[in-house]
Amino acid sequence: MKSTIRKAIHQVDVMMAPLILSAVKEQNALNTYLFHALFRDRQEIEQQIADPQQQVTVPIFRRFVEYHKSKGYKFVSPVDVLNGLPPNDRYVMITFDDGYYNNLRALPILEEFNVPALIFVSANHVLKNKAFWWDVAYREGKKAGMSDAAIGLEKKHLLTLTDDAIDAYLISKYGPDCFTPVGDTDRPLTPTELNKLAQHPLIHIGNHTCDHAVLPNYDAAGIKEQISKAQDILEDMVGYRPITIAYPCGEFNETALKVCREEDIKLGITVEHAKNFNPDFYEPTNLLTLNRFTIWGNEDLISQCDFYRSDFHVLDKMKGMLKKLKAKV
Ligand SMILES: [Zn+2]
Repeated sequence: MKSTIRKAIHQVDVMMAPLILSAVKEQNALNTYLFHALFRDRQEIEQQIADPQQQVTVPIFRRFVEYHKSKGYKFVSPVDVLNGLPPNDRYVMITFDDGYYNNLRALPILEEFNVPALIFVSANHVLKNKAFWWDVAYREGKKAGMSDAAIGLEKKHLLTLTDDAIDAYLISKYGPDCFTPVGDTDRPLTPTELNKLAQHPLIHIGNHTCDHAVLPNYDAAGIKEQISKAQDILEDMVGYRPITIAYPCGEFNETALKVCREEDIKLGITVEHAKNFNPDFYEPTNLLTLNRFTIWGNEDLISQCDFYRSDFHVLDKMKGMLKKLKAKV
């Protein structure tokens, strides 16, 4: 489907969502949400120190929690999910990927509303105080006068490489110091901060590989190393062996799932935009590939949440029809 048509249908779906929610009872499900960096405010984003990514600020995150509380959602931890969620309710699980220091800004909000969060940490970034490559590509690209489109294209290319190849590319372009974080905006947590955070009763720490590895770019030995070594490093830093993983960029394959099972990782999260419906979300086969929604700070928050909650999307129906037609041809 052409992207302009897709965007137009998506807009109709977004507009219709509040109407559908008022007319049709929402299905019980687990909605998992993805956050990355948590910017203090718009000004911090505009400093161009870090890739704006989803442009989520602390006030937006607060409104997200308030919204779901007001709609009667129950906030759950991975342990709640693994214990089995009663099928007669609607649930939200909050996740932060990568291990940014700025995720600590979520703590007062989590405490105020008494809601848990799952933080997926790229182990070597914390261990080495190393900036994330997308922030380096953005910060240095902006300094060099690259357009957003050019930086976007470069990012798309880098996503197809291993971490070593990405490092080599950026270091040859911007020099050996480019992976030194600028400050609190872009730096990862320190091992001490991570250890303290892990002791917090509302926080659960999960695996996000050693080097933020997009796993299908690696051979079997590489996948094993990225997942298993991260388990070791994180266990050292937080005092327990993670039982959860978020696949970097949501990418995984059969080898990755096999390694997760060997490592006794019980819950894995992708970036497939969909609810996790009962009874699917407590069936063991699906627990390693849970769906997850992404929240964007530069789009209306309420419209996004309404859209994700709505159970009828024209676009999904059309995609389904196209799939069936293709299967027949
Ligand atoms: Zn990530």
